[in-house]
Amino acid sequence: MVLEFLNNGVPMTHEDRTNKRWLIIATITVIAVSASLAITYAVLWLTGYDMLPMFFIIATVAPLLIAPVTTWSIISLLVNIQKLEEAYRNLATHDDLTRLLRRGTFLTQSQTFACLCARNKQTMSFATLDLDRFKDVNDQHGHGAGDEVLKAFADILRQSIRASDLAGRLGGEEFAIALPATSVQEALIVLERIRIKTEQTELPYLGKALRFTVSIGVSDAHGKQLEDIDYLIKSSDAQLYEAKRRGRNRIERDSPDDLFSGFDSTQGSTPAQ
Ligand code: GH3
Ligand code: MG
Ligand code: MG
Repeated sequence: MVLEFLNNGVPMTHEDRTNKRWLIIATITVIAVSASLAITYAVLWLTGYDMLPMFFIIATVAPLLIAPVTTWSIISLLVNIQKLEEAYRNLATHDDLTRLLRRGTFLTQSQTFACLCARNKQTMSFATLDLDRFKDVNDQHGHGAGDEVLKAFADILRQSIRASDLAGRLGGEEFAIALPATSVQEALIVLERIRIKTEQTELPYLGKALRFTVSIGVSDAHGKQLEDIDYLIKSSDAQLYEAKRRGRNRIERDSPDDLFSGFDSTQGSTPAQ
């Protein structure tokens, strides 16, 4: 806010903020001391008092003690307000459990990506991911365990996608990824990595190792199809349904016009145990 303003609106690192804070404190202290000396001089001159050095010592020392402390407190207050503002903004757009984008924000941003892809005549892929038999995790290990699984899965998503991709929590144990400028064939490489990583994760929880798997439906679109993200949501969702139907812990895609027919897991569905 105030510190960013002094940095021409460019977001600042913690180190930048600390350095700028000292710069502001020093500047305000110099201004306060100068103003105090000027006012003292003017008052003495106007009233005809002797210009005793003591007056000028007091006029220097008083703001030198007060200005830095006051400025520090005000800046700390402003920084705290800014932190709160950021936290509230984050809470509105991000799911507080997984820290992934919330459904609304995710879909709005995905639509923007889709329009950009359409304009650049690029393909966009969209995947819907749903944890398998997640209800069993809650039933067998408690809701806390379920929450830990959701967080661990969100971490897997974050670590697996590119910075230009988008991940969000659609609700419950359902997630989605938008992959701009990516064909289904390319998306499958990322998604298979996610599926395997999920399957191989052993999450420590109260002395147990929780295991879980994910089913994924993926679809791609280009041109006019990208004008409404609903097309991609529906088609990837239909594929997700197919992945569940075919045994879970697998990926299904639309366009069955090539050799691909789903990634079969060698282990099949592996519910949390
Ligand atoms: P399927 O393989 O068919 O997807 O089965 P499933 O058990 O994963 O699906 P179902 O829809 O039957 O159950 C989803 C469960 O997810 C039920 C709900 O209580 C749980 N759930 C939803 N949101 C949360 C959450 O934030 N935390 C936890 N711990 N559980 C949640
Ligand atoms: Mg599920
Ligand atoms: Mg579900």
